[in-house]
Amino acid sequence: MSGGGSSPLHRKVMIGLAAGALLGAAANRLGAGIDGGKEKVAFVADAIAYPIGQVFLRLLFLVVVPLVFASLAVGVANLGDLKRIGRMGGRTIVFVLVTCSCSALIGIGLMRTFTPGDGFDPETKAHLMRDFAGDMAKIQAKSEAQHAGTTLELVNNVLNMLLPRNVIGAIVNMEMLPLIVLALLFGIALTMLDEGRRAAMVAWLETIGDAMVKIVGIAMKLAPYAVACLIFAVVSKFGLDLLQKLAFYVAIVFCGYLIQLGVLYPALLKFLCRRSPIEFYRGAIPAIVTAFSTSSSSATLPTTLRVAQQDLGMRKSVADFVLPLGATMNMNGTALFEGALVLFIAQVFGVELAFQQQVLVVVLCVFAAIGAAGVPGGSLPLIMIVMAQVGVPPDGIAIVLGVDRLLDMGRTVVNVLGDLIGAAWVDHAEGPLAREAP
Ligand code: ASP
Repeated sequence: MSGGGSSPLHRKVMIGLAAGALLGAAANRLGAGIDGGKEKVAFVADAIAYPIGQVFLRLLFLVVVPLVFASLAVGVANLGDLKRIGRMGGRTIVFVLVTCSCSALIGIGLMRTFTPGDGFDPETKAHLMRDFAGDMAKIQAKSEAQHAGTTLELVNNVLNMLLPRNVIGAIVNMEMLPLIVLALLFGIALTMLDEGRRAAMVAWLETIGDAMVKIVGIAMKLAPYAVACLIFAVVSKFGLDLLQKLAFYVAIVFCGYLIQLGVLYPALLKFLCRRSPIEFYRGAIPAIVTAFSTSSSSATLPTTLRVAQQDLGMRKSVADFVLPLGATMNMNGTALFEGALVLFIAQVFGVELAFQQQVLVVVLCVFAAIGAAGVPGGSLPLIMIVMAQVGVPPDGIAIVLGVDRLLDMGRTVVNVLGDLIGAAWVDHAEGPLAREAP
């Protein structure tokens, strides 16, 4: 998706998105109408659409680790002075904490107001819990690996999240926080070397980053077809009856995304970043489309980085610094979704959450959003921990798993836009001085 918000490639991707959704919906209806139709549709989705979509996604994932490392280390090394790094890092963290808290509050507030889980049909609940028990068990296994019973376990988990003993092992598992810590330290260390050696290493890292962007360019040639396939695979297998049963819950969560996109973000853009929300959204379209079709902040990062500089005119050093941090830590849509989900499942199971527990949910959702991996369904293992902490049955998550991909597409858009807005704010706050060539 080279170029601006209206480039031919990005238009083709949007056409792919629409074609995938339409064909998927048609296949879904057709499959439901004929004998053995569902299996045939599932075969087309699994054997044709899924692999094509995955090649695209995995090409994007392939570049994420080197790209995050190179851009963040270069960003830090080019910022030069530690004061500026600290200032920008501090602003990024404040942005993450404040906006994620607002998002979790929006999710919880909506669920409290509309209570879609109250009076949820017990038979449907039992059905869904049974049908999605297998998927739930897989998520639970991941969740248990992160669970902390004692204080020592909690301390060790936090240490492992940031500074694992084996950083390569963590990176191989796509755990991004240790990679971020390593890149930050590496960039800071470069600023302490003499100028000649710093510049030589920065040039190397820039070459690595540029080469990764070329790989993204190759992947993007596949994008229109792959996006069609990804969406087809989701829509064609989607249980429309399931969507109907959970329609109220899905509608409320999407309402939350819309409040975030239509009220909170425009307000931040206008008053904090001094930018026109419409122009900003227009420039961000390639990142929005990529986030929606991949459901992954990490896979969208190369596009987000490009859009920030080319279409939204941010400084390279700011984008390189804030966006990799944002893609890993700043998940506003995820915080909103998590708050809403905990309340929804509590309502379905008739668990009353006292005021203090709801405050605890907000705090836990912010940290769960920061810790969630930027991959499809990345927030689900952590949300189970949050639910357990406040006495909501974690296996209740099975009830919503069937519609989660749809919600994930939406929350990833909110996450990625939040990253861009955070970067725009840091860019604005750095002032007009020190403008640099993009
Ligand atoms: N898919 C989301 C993202 O990558 C994470 C999540 O909420 O599951 O931003």
